[in-house]
Amino acid sequence: MTQNSLTSSLFRKEVLAMSAYKVADAGGLIKLDAMENPYGWPEALKTRWLETLRDCPLNRYPDPEAQQLVQTIRMHDQIPGQHAILLGNGSDEIIQLLLMALPPTAGVLSPAPGFVMYRQISHCLGLDYHGVPLLADGFELDLPAMLAAIEQHRPAVVFIAYPNNPTGNLFDPVAIHRIIKAAKGLVIIDEAYAPFADASFITALEEYDNLLLMRTLSKLGLAGLRLGYIAGNPALIEQLNKIRLPYNINCLTQLSADFALTHKALFDQQTQAISANRTLVFNQLNAMDGITAYPSSANFILFRTRQGQADKVYESVKRQGVLIKNINPQGGLLSDCLRVTIGTDSENSAFISALRNSLAGL
Ligand SMILES: *Cc1c(COP(=O)(O)O)cnc(C)c1O
Repeated sequence: MTQNSLTSSLFRKEVLAMSAYKVADAGGLIKLDAMENPYGWPEALKTRWLETLRDCPLNRYPDPEAQQLVQTIRMHDQIPGQHAILLGNGSDEIIQLLLMALPPTAGVLSPAPGFVMYRQISHCLGLDYHGVPLLADGFELDLPAMLAAIEQHRPAVVFIAYPNNPTGNLFDPVAIHRIIKAAKGLVIIDEAYAPFADASFITALEEYDNLLLMRTLSKLGLAGLRLGYIAGNPALIEQLNKIRLPYNINCLTQLSADFALTHKALFDQQTQAISANRTLVFNQLNAMDGITAYPSSANFILFRTRQGQADKVYESVKRQGVLIKNINPQGGLLSDCLRVTIGTDSENSAFISALRNSLAGL
């Protein structure tokens, strides 16, 4: 749509320059594009969940601090009592409120390619965003480049996704420790994929005053609820809490998340199945002529086609009924790359045969 004189006189130039976050229409397709857990809940559990919602007082505002849920999260993720926890409507909201709290000219830095929201929200707020390229073979942090960029730009916030999205790898923890020590501002370790990775910076929270840890329930299996959190130094969390909108976590989310997290065994079983299937899909991908898959500690796999083939392969896989994510348009290190979320056994098989067919038809 073209901008008329009203919109262009009304809104900030950063907003006018942005494009909205687009989500592909998955109607009728096998949905392997958004890092969702593919499994539902047993009927008996659904019934008990609905029971817990029955008396939820929808006429009342929810608990603004969601105290019961915070307590459950603390136990579930073993967050020690000295660290404060702040909840968000997805961790996306937490990224937004953290960046909203910064001075208008503050710098933000993250490795690139990385999670798009760090850049997107920084741009929207007019902040000084810098992406520091990862190393081309294997997407590891370029530590000297990261340290030089921190020295040069003095960012108020450094975001590091661990594991990284969209590459799926865990960066070298030794490099991350060096970055936290070198940073004059905050470092946020974004552990959105913690349920699929056997590594975490939780214990490092005690070592550093400038470190905060961010997590979400989305990838675990509750993407529809929209719940994320950030944990760490209470003095920092206290400031963020001032800009959080008072009732950002609605009562249905509070009750449902609390209920879900008390059924840890179910989610453990589901995430273990996803991790095991990740290995199968990874091996099948790498056995294909013309495909290179990258090792992943998350619930998705990034893979590369031969040069110039990614768009065609993506479209062909979609025509066969499977929606994955085309990463090729992001260019740079991600040229020729596609990303698939691990689904159920039958969804993974459908994807693998669709991909085989596409490659055969090129
Ligand atoms: C998916 C994702 C998020 C956002 O999760 P929500 O809680 O659903 O907003 C944050 N960081 C990374 C790295 C992600 O991949």
